[in-house]
Amino acid sequence: MAQLSDDCFAFGGPMMSVDEAVGIIAARVTPVREAETVALAQADGRILATDISAPLPLPPFTNSAVDGYAVRSRDLPPRGEVAFAVTGRIEAGEPAVAAIQPGHAVRIFTGAPMPDGADTVFMQEDVRIDGDGRVVLPEGLRPGANVRPAGEDIPAGSAALAAGQRLRPQDVALAAAFGLTQIDVRRRIRVAVFSTGNELVSPGAPRAAAQLFDSNRFMLIAMLRRLGSEVSDLGILRDERASLAEGLKKVAGAHDLILTTGGVSTGEEDHVKAAVESVGRLVLWRMAIKPGRPVAMGIIGGTPLIGLPGNPVATFVTFVHVVRPTVLALAGAAQQPIVPMPVRAAFSYKKKISRREYVRANLRRAEDGALEATKFPREGAGLLSSLVETDGLVELGEEIRKVEPGQTVGFLGYASLM
Ligand code: AMP
Ligand code: MG
Repeated sequence: MAQLSDDCFAFGGPMMSVDEAVGIIAARVTPVREAETVALAQADGRILATDISAPLPLPPFTNSAVDGYAVRSRDLPPRGEVAFAVTGRIEAGEPAVAAIQPGHAVRIFTGAPMPDGADTVFMQEDVRIDGDGRVVLPEGLRPGANVRPAGEDIPAGSAALAAGQRLRPQDVALAAAFGLTQIDVRRRIRVAVFSTGNELVSPGAPRAAAQLFDSNRFMLIAMLRRLGSEVSDLGILRDERASLAEGLKKVAGAHDLILTTGGVSTGEEDHVKAAVESVGRLVLWRMAIKPGRPVAMGIIGGTPLIGLPGNPVATFVTFVHVVRPTVLALAGAAQQPIVPMPVRAAFSYKKKISRREYVRANLRRAEDGALEATKFPREGAGLLSSLVETDGLVELGEEIRKVEPGQTVGFLGYASLM
């Protein structure tokens, strides 16, 4: 199950930019090969395994875009209104009757096939019926108006969905429009998740005075599931090299990725590094990112390991920049670059040059209608409330030194990060 080129994560180095990290991951992680077939209704969020080209044109036949009257545009006078006898009626789902007769109109409804020869439809709102039951058509309608030609959406045979697409509801709709009932997708990747720390207990277990409930593990599991992974929740490992090593080694073969949180700084009680080194290989990626401390990257028996820091906000931000691209790459998904939306800063902020920083922020509508980002008042990387009470992150690039109110900054809504 080796899905990494051997030295994939062997980039200790001094400081790595976020883009470098993402670049290394995208270039070196190879996707799982196995595919499976799922029913259309189960395909949302899965990664398409093979390209899909259109087996039929969309729409499959030329049809009316409105309720109205179909005509031949060449029968219309250059100027002035004209009255045509109405011969025939076509509802959606009915075959087109005979070809349209010159100088006649056919009553037609949205989605109904155009009769042969007709090329234009007058909307029923734009016409009236005269005393003889003829339809009076105004002048000035463009030939071809209100008609949806076969294949105007997607021509038959054209590329429609590319392998690697992380299927969204609209992609599933497209497959359905082609009449497909099942889709070939990559199998879900299997991710093992551990928390580490003697201070942690699982919710539901008795908590001693100096302990806290493990929250990161549940955040990570939820984020991984949103990315389509199958997750093994492996609980909490104690800050102890031998038991950490044993726990990690046990799960390596059966998973595509091992994810841990906590224990990766360089304190005396941070044992993840030593544990991984005893059963595999490990480097610390010192990423130029705040919040975030070193992220541990390693390989145990061919299975990649990512060790995230323990402070919840650092866990969240490093997940987005390291785990997300790794999971997408392993799963066979095309990388989905994170694109910030420009908004106006309503705060001032000083930062270190050459480091990318993320500011937890809320969006609000300013009096002039512009979208403004306000900064969460406190900065600690341990504040879960700072993630819960905000809408997303303001991304401040490496080159920025400070932010002044009124400046344009890039905003990332939380939903766009998963
Ligand atoms: P560490 O990275 O292990 O030094 O942990 C940094 C901080 O994050 C400490 O205050 C830990 O108690 C806290 N922490 C570590 N892991 C978790 C977790 N799974 N859930 C909540 N807080 C954690
Ligand atoms: Mg710890």
